[in-house]
Amino acid sequence: MHRVLLLGTEKTYRVGKILCVTRNYRAHAAELNNESSAQPVFFLKPASSIIGQGETAVIPSVSHNCQHEIELAVLIGKGGKDIAPESALNHIAGYGIAIDLTLRDLPGDLKTKGLPWSMAKGFDTSCPLSDFIPASQITDPQALELSLYVNDELRQQGNSAEMIHSIPKLICAASAIFSLEEGDILLTGTPAGVGPLVSGDQVKAQISQLGSLIIGIR
Ligand code: ZN
Repeated sequence: MHRVLLLGTEKTYRVGKILCVTRNYRAHAAELNNESSAQPVFFLKPASSIIGQGETAVIPSVSHNCQHEIELAVLIGKGGKDIAPESALNHIAGYGIAIDLTLRDLPGDLKTKGLPWSMAKGFDTSCPLSDFIPASQITDPQALELSLYVNDELRQQGNSAEMIHSIPKLICAASAIFSLEEGDILLTGTPAGVGPLVSGDQVKAQISQLGSLIIGIR
């Protein structure tokens, strides 16, 4: 069980499921030679994959290619099913910073063989997550600057304005399949520049108005 804090309030949320969208920035889809899809495609990480500020992510020994993906994280404050895009923002409690750690080389090459991604995406420590800023303090969640540094070197940069599927559209599409509950988290995709991490790296993920999330790698 993992709880996240909504900063400036006393409120914590018990995290339920973590829904993540693939290929939601064109430049990232292109760098992986993937087509972006007309409808968003989601996968899940378990809540047990979360680590917090200042903690260390551990690359499983079976992998030699663990990659970073900075993502804007959305904390669901009010649950729902079949949520319309027009009312989707009312379901958001806050915004935070996530790093979707991904094993691109798992034995069996899960993705190209069409096998489930759970092991490559949901391993322990694969979801570093910041505290959340209340949604009321963020005037435009589609105008946030994302940057990720490895050992102080800039690796990823983008803006949430570049999302293929906007946050309301993601909430609408996700809630057509999965009931959303208070404490669920949505990861909204990563901009271009993903790359490998090695033991000893320090990763800093930064999003304008939200601050930064720093983790170690082992
Ligand atoms: Zn991702």
